[in-house]
Amino acid sequence: MSTVLIIGAGGVGRVVAHKCAQVPEVFSGIHLASRTRSKCDQIATEVAEKTGRTIQTAQVDADKVPELVALIKQIKPAMVINVALPYQDLTIMDACLETGVHYLDTANYEPLDEAKFEYKWQWAYRDRFEQAGLMALLGSGFDPGVTNVFCAHMQKHHFDQIDTVDILDCNGGDHGYAFATNFNPEINIREVTANGRYYENGRWVETKPMEIHHTFDFEQVGPKKMYLLYHEEMESLSKNLKGVKRMRFWMTFGDAYLKHLEVFRNIGLDSIEPIMFEGREIVPIQFLKALLPDPATLGPRTVGKTNIGCIVKGSKNGQPVSRYVYNICDHQTCYRETNAQGVSYTTGVPAMIGAMMMLTGKWMKPGVWNMEEFDPDPFMAALNQHGLPWTDVATDIDIDALPE
Ligand code: NDP
Repeated sequence: MSTVLIIGAGGVGRVVAHKCAQVPEVFSGIHLASRTRSKCDQIATEVAEKTGRTIQTAQVDADKVPELVALIKQIKPAMVINVALPYQDLTIMDACLETGVHYLDTANYEPLDEAKFEYKWQWAYRDRFEQAGLMALLGSGFDPGVTNVFCAHMQKHHFDQIDTVDILDCNGGDHGYAFATNFNPEINIREVTANGRYYENGRWVETKPMEIHHTFDFEQVGPKKMYLLYHEEMESLSKNLKGVKRMRFWMTFGDAYLKHLEVFRNIGLDSIEPIMFEGREIVPIQFLKALLPDPATLGPRTVGKTNIGCIVKGSKNGQPVSRYVYNICDHQTCYRETNAQGVSYTTGVPAMIGAMMMLTGKWMKPGVWNMEEFDPDPFMAALNQHGLPWTDVATDIDIDALPE
């Protein structure tokens, strides 16, 4: 029985709050704090209606370590679940170290002024967390998160040697808007407009944005064009999956979505460089974010399914093995349960499960860790119990042989 402090009251924070409330035997006390307290209060009201549980709320600016420290000292949680933005990862880790509480997040740190997401900043906290006897679990969302655990599951149960990993992320959801992003637009657009990159034979191979694509027939979604892009879980997986030769990440996008992005890019609306506008400095991508629908409001409108998984090839006992492990999630089912669409749901459920793994001692080790560094079995079992059931099958799919 533990008290947790959730920071961030967006789409993912909403799901984490609902899911923690559903497991009172682990999460006996739940606090939700964010920049805008009214959003926390709204979520607390919804959770009370659905589960009868009370969530305490607070306002905090997570960019400010002293504010975080004061809040954590007042609440005295066992851990912080950070589902604010990647920009707050380091300040929240600092506050956890100062107050002696464990830490979990779903996305790696990104400096605000540099579109660059890497684990190096957070891995640099390893010694400090270890010496303090504290644990930080990084990237406990779906991808990163479940995809890392899927790889650990493959390694443990099906392979002696993993040669290739392809991570396939399909969102077949339709929200009816001409353009909207399913999670924070700033992070989403920065991720998609960056150069593609994949891992091969010990080095990273760079591609132009959206240069490599194939059409894949996703179960319960149908054929979708998926594009190779860089994704953060590959950084840790390429280190932790010993001997892996190639690792790629694919995400589906519709033509209309890409057309909008192309226009934003052509006119500089996706830029993170500040410009002067009517006497004040504005950052174009932040202005764009203000114009776009709030991802937290997409829930009621979004229909269709997500299908995210890993195709892994290699060998066992000298024989070739090829397997596909994936989860299919229905947006409207997620909405009925948590008032949030599938992308928030598939991130928030693993965040709750990661916290549960830590608080129940199944995954508890001082230091800073990625998901694949733990026993996948209890996490995989919890996915089945808490709304993200998975399928693990042999496959003969060869992505490179698929049509573009
Ligand atoms: P949202 O933008 O919907 O929500 C972010 C929340 O954080 C908002 O409530 C926001 O407050 C709050 N916040 C932002 N800055 C601060 C601050 N300085 N202090 C306190 N609170 C702050 O994002 P999502 O819920 O969609 O995503 C949350 C996280 O999950 C992100 O880090 C995202 O990258 C990650 N993610 C991970 C995925 C995975 O599979 N691993 C997939 C999708 C998302 P306010 O309401 O005032 O703006």
